[in-house]
Amino acid sequence: MSVLLTLLAALIASGACAYHRTSLRTWAIVTIVATLVVGLLARAPATTVILLIIELAIALPLLMVDFRRKQISLPLLKLFAKVTPKLSETEQTALEAGTVGFEGELFSGKPDWHELLKQPKPELSVEEQAFMDGPVEELCSMIDDWQITHELADLPPNVWDFIKKNRFFGMIIPKQYGGLQFSALAHSAVLQKLNSMSATVASTVAVPNSLGPAELLLHYGSDEQKNHYLPRLAVGEEIPCFALTGPYAGSDATSIPDVGIVCKQVVDGVETLGIKLTFDKRYITLAPVATVVGLAFRMVDPEHLLGDQEDLGITLALLPRSTPGLEIGRRHFPLNIPFQNGPIRGKDVFAPLSVLIGGPQMAGHGWRMLVECLSVGRAISLPSNATGGMRASVLATGAYARMRKQFGLAVARFEGVEEALARIGGLTYATAALSRATAAAVDRGEKPAVPSAIAKYHATEWARQIAADTMDVHGGKAVQLGPKNYAGRGWSAVPIAITVEGANIMTRSLMIFGQGAIRCHPYVLKEMQALSIADRGEQLKTFDRLLFGHIGFGISNAVRSLAMGLTGARIGETAGDAYTRRYYRKLDRYSAALALTADVFMGVLGGKLKFKEKLSARLGDVLSYLYIASAMLKRYEDTGRPEADRPFLAWGFHQCMWLIQNALDGAIRNFPVRPVAWLLRALVFPFGRREVPPSDRLGRRVAALLTAPNEALDRLTDWVYTTPTANNTIGRMKALLPDVIAAEPVDRKFGKALKAGQFKAHDYLGQLAEARQAGVISDAEADLLRRVREGVFEFISVDDFDTDEMRAFKTRAAEDRRAGGDV
Ligand SMILES: Cc1cc2nc3c(=O)[nH]c(=O)nc-3n(C[C@H](O)[C@H](O)[C@H](O)COP(=O)(O)OP(=O)(O)OC[C@H]3O[C@@H](n4cnc5c(N)ncnc54)[C@H](O)[C@@H]3O)c2cc1C
Repeated sequence: MSVLLTLLAALIASGACAYHRTSLRTWAIVTIVATLVVGLLARAPATTVILLIIELAIALPLLMVDFRRKQISLPLLKLFAKVTPKLSETEQTALEAGTVGFEGELFSGKPDWHELLKQPKPELSVEEQAFMDGPVEELCSMIDDWQITHELADLPPNVWDFIKKNRFFGMIIPKQYGGLQFSALAHSAVLQKLNSMSATVASTVAVPNSLGPAELLLHYGSDEQKNHYLPRLAVGEEIPCFALTGPYAGSDATSIPDVGIVCKQVVDGVETLGIKLTFDKRYITLAPVATVVGLAFRMVDPEHLLGDQEDLGITLALLPRSTPGLEIGRRHFPLNIPFQNGPIRGKDVFAPLSVLIGGPQMAGHGWRMLVECLSVGRAISLPSNATGGMRASVLATGAYARMRKQFGLAVARFEGVEEALARIGGLTYATAALSRATAAAVDRGEKPAVPSAIAKYHATEWARQIAADTMDVHGGKAVQLGPKNYAGRGWSAVPIAITVEGANIMTRSLMIFGQGAIRCHPYVLKEMQALSIADRGEQLKTFDRLLFGHIGFGISNAVRSLAMGLTGARIGETAGDAYTRRYYRKLDRYSAALALTADVFMGVLGGKLKFKEKLSARLGDVLSYLYIASAMLKRYEDTGRPEADRPFLAWGFHQCMWLIQNALDGAIRNFPVRPVAWLLRALVFPFGRREVPPSDRLGRRVAALLTAPNEALDRLTDWVYTTPTANNTIGRMKALLPDVIAAEPVDRKFGKALKAGQFKAHDYLGQLAEARQAGVISDAEADLLRRVREGVFEFISVDDFDTDEMRAFKTRAAEDRRAGGDV
């Protein structure tokens, strides 16, 4: 017993130091003192002496810094240099391009929640809110998505004009150039609202405000280029597009074969130094109507007209549409979401060097320029569009499920539908928080490379899930296309969002963890960088400090993961109030588990982990769900911890924890070195898999919030266009919902009398009249039932057409436009 006590004292002292991440010196002192005191009190002299010898044998060499450097760190540095894979130039550029924000804390195993919670609450300025209430509201009132997607395959001229005139294309352009200079949050809010009406309009507005000519000019353009283009881009006098992708270069954009050869050519009688461009680009958004083309190509200088270097590398230029030889104008047809998208080609197209963005000195820097700007656009466009669509689905599906009756009940009452509604509510809450968090990061001046990949992937994947649930709950109503169908086009748009700005499979498998692990890890990148320190002494000193920091970090994460696993994350100082503290603790636990697992995977597999995409994708999932759950908690705090939102928060949070558990379990289960996997499992899941998905009861509470007006629903569907205008079915459904609910008890009275055979009439209005006469319902109640029946009929009805009307370009509107010379 006394031996056990002494052993336990030493272990607990060591564990406590590792848990709290004390210094090596503190660990040595605390452990030695604990062993001595408990050993003497317990009268276990032999055990005490043995333990002290072991402790000193570990502590002394580690505390003697010179000895440690030469005998331990130096051989390990040599080994590390040998096994560390060289980063490719592309990877190096990608790593240097972004910043690390709160995601770094999540990778630390011990997140500092204060860092997250002290960040200012993101809010629209008065001017931005006025834009939302003014031009955005007006634009939404002008949108007829059926006309856009079926009749015109384009935005109508008045919508194009309104967008340009109100500077929707200039949200990221500073005021000094005539732009709106909006915050990322406002930019996101505008896209969300537009997407609640039309994916085509939202995509059209998103592109000029994302990675493209304006963004690139702002960062790298010469003054002359900025002064020329930015004021024109802000008011839509110039329409931009950006052409990177081609038949041979999709996800691997660095492999573009398009070439620009430096040469001289006589232009208007003057010998001009320029480039002869040959390129074949496809899928380029806005290309068919663009007046200025951002072009990525590989620049070569075989005659050394610019200098010694022959292959200058990827370079970016702005070509006016009028450039002779530019083939532009034809369109692709992206899944019935007809935003302007098409190919651009050119053979031996000559352009002067002044077309290079930033001038000749920026030749060859194209990839870096793109990657540096990529994360900002990616953090906003796709996540915002996805969130806007999801928020609209919440309103539409909740209202529809309450209005649509089958088997004598609103379909929302069936448990199967309730399950879909709960997913729609919970995932929308999570995605809205995620999209808000990445916009806030951009507004803080970050270049959120990892969060933007997380947001792009998860917002679009969850949008896919919600689009499917929305279709399922609506049944045939969502299948039959026509002006009355507000869901079908959203379903069609999903694969586009999945593919663009980093196709999802690649984003998940390669980018989130691949970049996250190196970028966010407190030691890995620094250790790799230490390899390039020229001064050997300095290199050893730096490597030694990092190495032992890293070892301590690993031990601490193992102890923290085990301790929190054993206690079900019920211990420890953390953030939050009585309701949310358990959530923060869970995040603490899985942050430690991620840091430990990532370290072990990287340590054992080294560079091979990059090719084990199925493993790294799962670890990326863990980081993603930690980030999303943190974003939800921050949103909950920022909105004043509203009790009404708790079902959404709880559903989203438990879903994330369940998915984290599945991802960690999957990664460990498939780790090829089995003994290591067994040890990891013991440290990460000491009592097995204990997380459960959101319960049916919780799902019922979430579904209930979707099917009746309430403040939590209002917050969740913020920035949806809800004005009940003739073009806005969802807004009109929202407006009718209170009457639908008020009519339910009346309908029950009426139905009971009908079942009892009290009425002779066979039609609804006749039966209503009889019910009123018999005093079953009052006049006002009869009126309510009639109004609701008429209103609901409009929402459950679908369109029908003559065959001629369904044929492309045979509709009256299109023929009129053709006659008017617009098409
Ligand atoms: C509607 C639309 C608009 C677009 N707008 C523009 C634009 O304005 N400008 C522009 O330049 N481009 C644009 N694109 C191009 C877009 O960015 C590419 O489609 C995208 O990069 C994917 O390339 P790809 O379609 O050729 O797919 P591929 O690269 O052929 O990929 C096929 C599949 O392989 C996966 N994959 C590829 N590499 C890996 C890997 N290493 N690990 C795991 N999985 C991998 C991908 O995830 C994908 O699932 C647009 C595309 C579409 C469809």
